[in-house]
Amino acid sequence: MSEPLYQLIYISKNAIPGDDGAVRREIKQILSSAQTKNAQANLTGALLFNAGCFAQILEGTHDDIQETFERIQCDPRHSHVTILTFQPLATRVFGQWSMGYVGQDSIAATQFRGIAQASGFDLTKVKGEQIVELLKAHLFETESLAMVT
Ligand code: FAD
Repeated sequence: MSEPLYQLIYISKNAIPGDDGAVRREIKQILSSAQTKNAQANLTGALLFNAGCFAQILEGTHDDIQETFERIQCDPRHSHVTILTFQPLATRVFGQWSMGYVGQDSIAATQFRGIAQASGFDLTKVKGEQIVELLKAHLFETESLAMVT
């Protein structure tokens, strides 16, 4: 029998130095590495970057998520890493993406700003489900945007 699935959702603050171009290039590298490593670890998920923040969803077995998240958490390219949820999952929501991406030029990013605003810019108050709904709607509707533009 296969191991139970889990889903982890966290948010963090961008700590990549430099201008927009430098940040964009670094995120491209993060994504490329994430997509390769996640595929090897049988992890799926999505990453959103906007308003100086990251929101990421990771899906897989408990141990696979934990192992990868330990690396992510220590990464100096972000800070204030805050877990919103880490809970069992019946089926993968982002099964077709080793790491889908939604950047700051997208409609979802505008919606994320709205969510952040509603939380009084205290992202620890944002609900994990809001992040899932936002990324799900966006990635499924515009699959082609699941890459850095
Ligand atoms: P190496 O590539 O050998 O790097 C060693 C150390 O240097 C690590 O601590 C790494 O964090 C740090 N590092 C690497 N490149 C840079 C750089 N350009 N500037 C500063 N420090 C650097 N990885 C995944 O596998 N899956 C994911 O889903 C994933 N999502 C991420 C989301 C965010 C928001 C961020 C910031 C990173 C993410 N990463 C992800 C990258 C992860 O943090 C590791 O850098 C990556 O997995 C490589 O790990 P490694 O131990 O092989 O490190």
